[in-house]
Amino acid sequence: MLMRLAGGRLIDPAHGVDGQVRDLYVRDGRIVDAPADAAEAHTIDVSGRVVMAGAIDLHTHIGGGKVNLARLMLPEDHRRVRYERTELTRSSCGHAAPGTLATGYRYAEMGYTACFEPAMVPINARQTHLELGDTPIVDKGCYALLGNDDFFLRMLATGEPQARINDYVAWTLDCTQSIAIKVVNPGGISAFKFNQRRLDVDEEHVHYRVTPRRVIQALTRAVHELGVPHGLHVHGCNLGVPGNVDTTLATMDAAEGLPIHLTHIQFHSYGTEGDRKFSSAAARIAEAINARPNVSADVGQIMFGQTVTASGDNMMQYRNSDLGSPRKAVIMDIECDAGCGVVPFRYREQSFVNALQWAIGLEIFLSVRDPWRIYLTTDHPNGGPFTTYPHLIRLLTDRSFRDDMFQKIHPDARAASTLASLTREYSLYEIAIMTRAGPARTLGLADRGHLAAGAAADIVVYREDADRERMFTTPEYVFKDGEMIAHDGRLLKITSGSVHTVKPDYDRSIEAKVADYFERYQTVSASGLRIDRDELCECGSRLIVHECRKAAR
Ligand SMILES: [Zn+2]
Repeated sequence: MLMRLAGGRLIDPAHGVDGQVRDLYVRDGRIVDAPADAAEAHTIDVSGRVVMAGAIDLHTHIGGGKVNLARLMLPEDHRRVRYERTELTRSSCGHAAPGTLATGYRYAEMGYTACFEPAMVPINARQTHLELGDTPIVDKGCYALLGNDDFFLRMLATGEPQARINDYVAWTLDCTQSIAIKVVNPGGISAFKFNQRRLDVDEEHVHYRVTPRRVIQALTRAVHELGVPHGLHVHGCNLGVPGNVDTTLATMDAAEGLPIHLTHIQFHSYGTEGDRKFSSAAARIAEAINARPNVSADVGQIMFGQTVTASGDNMMQYRNSDLGSPRKAVIMDIECDAGCGVVPFRYREQSFVNALQWAIGLEIFLSVRDPWRIYLTTDHPNGGPFTTYPHLIRLLTDRSFRDDMFQKIHPDARAASTLASLTREYSLYEIAIMTRAGPARTLGLADRGHLAAGAAADIVVYREDADRERMFTTPEYVFKDGEMIAHDGRLLKITSGSVHTVKPDYDRSIEAKVADYFERYQTVSASGLRIDRDELCECGSRLIVHECRKAAR
């Protein structure tokens, strides 16, 4: 069927389009140029409306082991927010750690059409994909966690050539059906198992005698040489530790000019100034990003209220476990692969530290100049649930609203922040970059995040509204692959999304070595780890493989 969205104001930064009024044609799930049979199109009048591509969340914890632990730990979260079944939707629940169904429904209603789970431990890949397969409507993708696994650290410690490391990285991407590589507290999750309680960029792991810097170097190079579009996705050392700004700057430079993405950078932007020895280093971080075109970041904004923190960083979560609210925590090791920690948390406006964290996140957003290299996240659920995104968009686009909110936070945090002096207001064009075009470009999703012919018809139509929170909470229409799935916040159709992956070439002889290792040390065999296309697609998903452009060695 041919459909025409008539008279909308298009915002499509991938093609420099900012508010141009133009009809958009959709056929068989794709955007097409105005066709010869245009007169026969089913027409929807969207005149006066803002039209963007579907939003993409490149860092949201929505599936896998620790998300399930968070669900298990918080029955109160489920009791507080319950969704009754309707004729179309099934019942679900949860605010900070929603069930798979609520996750897909709520994202889609807000105009999000793709979500990326950024911390999939390879050994948990099957369960993660099963959960994501159960998450309706939105597309999904996973970043495989490496850098704390015994196999990789042994390779580094014994000085295996980079080419072999590349093969192992490519093998991991291939058998876990992932689109990128993530490292959490490089080497530190492993070091925690050897009773180390800190590991800075140039400190040595007591067992393998390698440093986080070495881990970052080897993985950024592997990702680059394999041609994986997204640079190494890094959750750095010393998360949440006052004074960690120096660690973060050292982490950027460990990439030696190769592409690197620093995730939830707000949690890594702290100084030690002031009476409380906790201060904002947002200006230094923003300046460093502005000066390094190879660096991108997502913010991990904190939002006030109840949430749960769920991280692979067992070292730092152990450190934070006394701060849990309600007071409970899970800290665990996961095979020879990694670990995780889950700690419920309540961010309070009247806590000096929380208030300053909130201000630091906004300072970073407003001080990084290039919206193509900074992305809108709360690190769901760590900084706050994804359902707070419209509120965050209002904070970024509406200075007087932001100033009003700023007046409500702890007075000492206010005194320690430069937020009131930052006059910038994000435009809709810049919001579209941060939430669509930018994530699509960095992940290599050639047919998402834009509105030109050939793109998947993931399209969102908003009513122009000076209250940007209201505007982004309830789009007028949401289309997924050309189907109208929501209208005025009401779901109309429940579809299954696709899974986005990359498949770089590699020397298959690595498989024998990995198989031998798994036989000796892991609870599953290497062949059992592998998820093939048929298995992945059993739950209704399609597999989309994006192109890798191999770099010269
Ligand atoms: Zn995260």
